[in-house]
Parts: sequence; structure tokens; C-alpha cells
Amino acid sequence: MPRRLTGGVWLLDLGLVEPVDAYAYLVDDTGAAGDGTVTLVDTGLFLNRPTLDDELAAAGEGYTLADIDRVLVTHYDLDHVGGLRAFTGDRVPVYVGTADAALLAGEDDPPLLHHKGLFHRVARRVWPFPDVRVVPIADGEAVGGFRAYHTPGHNPGHTVYVHERLGVAFLGDLVWGAEGGLTTPIWLDSYDMERLAASVRDLAGRVGEFEVAAMGHGDPVTAGGAAALTALAEQV
Ligand SMILES: [Zn+2]
Repeated sequence: MPRRLTGGVWLLDLGLVEPVDAYAYLVDDTGAAGDGTVTLVDTGLFLNRPTLDDELAAAGEGYTLADIDRVLVTHYDLDHVGGLRAFTGDRVPVYVGTADAALLAGEDDPPLLHHKGLFHRVARRVWPFPDVRVVPIADGEAVGGFRAYHTPGHNPGHTVYVHERLGVAFLGDLVWGAEGGLTTPIWLDSYDMERLAASVRDLAGRVGEFEVAAMGHGDPVTAGGAAALTALAEQV
């Protein structure tokens, strides 16, 4: 079931079966102070249970795919981009960090002698990226009320999106939720753990205040999100 985190921000509980679940987020910024858009952050697996449609319909007054104005992708992993099949065509821009956009376009080959590089090479053939309107996004760029932070490590183009006015950071798989706080994802699922730790410290040092820390896996932190990130940065 979807869960409201703050204002028009909803957690969509996608995934297959626990613990193979992945969260996507709906950000309805059509309120008085908003920019009039509805954004989806990440899209779950190819096969989600419940489906993306079910979760959208159950959030607030109910949404459909047609309500989505843009998709922000934190990184090119199957449990975050699988649902993009629903957005083929030109209508909805799909923002992807520059390095991951090159990876999925086949312009950049991930390292073969690397556990995740090899996986990406195979995944790219078996599950070809759907024909969506990809817009590469770089560090510091703004999309509506969101700002992009390039945070490599888990993936080369991993990107965090922070909505300053709403006070929410969409952290993807830079961190995972654990026991009310934050932790780092596992080595098996990541390109470079040292780089990931550096990205955690870098983000904590330059991002402003935010209350809600919303990630791909594990329970979001709904108050004191920036402090939780700082605490993790001091440990890694
Ligand atoms: Zn993930």
C-alpha cells in the first residue's frame, strides 16, 4: 500500500516479494506553492506486486500513468528502471544521471572483470531498455523543484534528487534504510564501495536541510533526514 511521507509525497511499495521489494515515490507538486507537476522517482521491477498502476490508484485521490509529467531515475538497476516500460514514447521525459545514461545507451561499456559490470553487460541484452525519452542529467542541475546530486559508487551515474521546498531527499541506493536510520548497500550490489562512502560524505557536506530521507530499500526516515545522513557520513 502507498504511504504518505509528507505533503504530496507518497511511497509506492513496489517489488516482487519481500525482501525483493523496491520503493518508488510519487511527488505531487500541484499545490498552491508547487510547480504544477507530478513526478515519479524510480519505477520498480519489470514485474511488480502490487503493480505501479495499483499503487498509483491507491495514493491520495488516485493517480494514473497519464498524470505523471516526468520520471527521475536514481540509477540504472533493474529494480529501479523496470517499470519504465509504462512510459515508452515521447510524452514523459525520463531523467537519468549522465554516466548511467551512457551505460544504458550502450555508449559506455561497464568493466567486464567486475561483478556488477558483468551483470550490467548481460542485463542490457536480456532486458533491453525501453524506448523512452531519456534526458541525461548532471550534478547541480535543477528539474522543477528538484536538484540533482551526482553520487557515484553504487552505480557510476547514481543520482540523488533533493526537493528543497518539500524537504525530501530521494537517495536511491546511495543508502538503505535500517532500524530507523541509514546504512550503506552491500558490496555485491555496488560498483565501488569506497566511492560510495565518499559520495555519502560529499552529499552530507553540501546538501541543505531535509526532513525526509526516502530510499530504494528499507524504511524511509521521516524526520531529521539530513542529521541521519550526517551520522552515516561520520561512520563510513
Ligand atoms: Zn535497488
